[in-house]
Amino acid sequence: MIITRFAPSPTGELHIGGARTALFNYLYARKDEDGKFYLRIDDTDQERSKKEYETKLIYDLKWLGLNWDNAEFIRQSERNKIYSEYLEILKEKNYIYPCFCSDERLKTMREEQLKNNTPPKYDGHCRNLTRGEIDERIRTGVKFCWRLKLPENYEARFYDVVHGDQIFPAGTIGDFVIWRSDNTPTYIFASAVDDYLMKISHIIRGDEHIPNTARQIALLDILNWPRPEFIHIPMVLSSERKKLGKRTGSTPIREYRERGFLPEALRAYLGTLSWSADKNINLLDLNDMCKNFDPSRIVKSSPVHDEDHLMFWQKKAMNNKSPDEIAKNIINFDSRFEKYSADDLKILVSEIINDVPFINGMAESLKFLVERPECNIKVSWSKEFSDEILNLNEWDVNSIEKFLRGFMKQNNLKGREFFHPLRIILTGQEHGAPLPQIIFVMGKQSVSEIFK
Ligand code: GLU
Repeated sequence: MIITRFAPSPTGELHIGGARTALFNYLYARKDEDGKFYLRIDDTDQERSKKEYETKLIYDLKWLGLNWDNAEFIRQSERNKIYSEYLEILKEKNYIYPCFCSDERLKTMREEQLKNNTPPKYDGHCRNLTRGEIDERIRTGVKFCWRLKLPENYEARFYDVVHGDQIFPAGTIGDFVIWRSDNTPTYIFASAVDDYLMKISHIIRGDEHIPNTARQIALLDILNWPRPEFIHIPMVLSSERKKLGKRTGSTPIREYRERGFLPEALRAYLGTLSWSADKNINLLDLNDMCKNFDPSRIVKSSPVHDEDHLMFWQKKAMNNKSPDEIAKNIINFDSRFEKYSADDLKILVSEIINDVPFINGMAESLKFLVERPECNIKVSWSKEFSDEILNLNEWDVNSIEKFLRGFMKQNNLKGREFFHPLRIILTGQEHGAPLPQIIFVMGKQSVSEIFK
């Protein structure tokens, strides 16, 4: 059974990279009929974690349609009691030791190591303190944390579905902190405990977590807990080939939503970042994506975030909707459009959908239908145009087109002299849907009125 989880830290908004991690976890769990996809809020970093971000993350995930199975999702900050039980087990078995090193000492040690070109790691200073030394320090109130006592010559080795064998030879990892001096667990410890308790079968997360995995498997091995499978996905890069992180200016999902992108467009786009199906599938269809998701087809190289490609999917997603549905969406978006029928609006929708593939964008470019644009252009043929259009017998797009051409000729106007001011007066815009369609939808009376 596939059990995955998305475990964001609520230290910022959901971005492209995080959303893709969530999507992949969702897809894989849903590929399995009995699979489970869980949400866990990794808020062990109390200084940087904010409730406000948690609320936003949840909103974004729901909007993307990535629903999780644990209605009461897990919040690590509320589970100290559980983590401390496991801390006790580790203490009893003598798998951990208290470390009294000051920040000062650790800093100097790290600087030394960097200077000597050795990988920074804890030097084991407190590993062999005697019971008496420990008691003495505790009695005098020296602050301490708990470190995992890595077995001598422990080599962390695991297989990653994307990156292959990962080996951290003995001596490259130091005894790491699992419990802080402020009596809270570290992320590494809390997550290992939770992944175990949640029975996570596959951990899909960014490949910047590979060093954490080496530490987490050390914990699992020591506790004799089963290892999940690891699928570390490559970081998404910005167009300048920099890491696209929360702190490096990546655009939040919220912003794409506000710009009018559809969730299915974003999902399809995210699905193309490092992954592809082995056959042609409809990425706009979440079920199709779930059925065909296969982590072994995730590639190692980092994808580059490309808004043009996202736009491609947005157009596809919009064209996937019927013009009628879009017309109704526009009316829903701005109730002033209610005075038009969806049947009429959809005539214009079909004309502008590829230039403005957004509901909000379309409402904006059709705003002239509900709000007269400011316009101080005067034309000599105004009155005549107003009268003649009012007297048109046939009112359909073709007849209007014929009429416009006839009117232009009859008044000895050149194309630009006529159509350009006509468009500006009617719509306040330089470009847009063809004029006969616009005039048809606006209606005889209103158009005549404007030119009166
Ligand atoms: N909370 C971590 C993060 O936001 C992810 C942890 C994990 O997936 O194990 O980067």
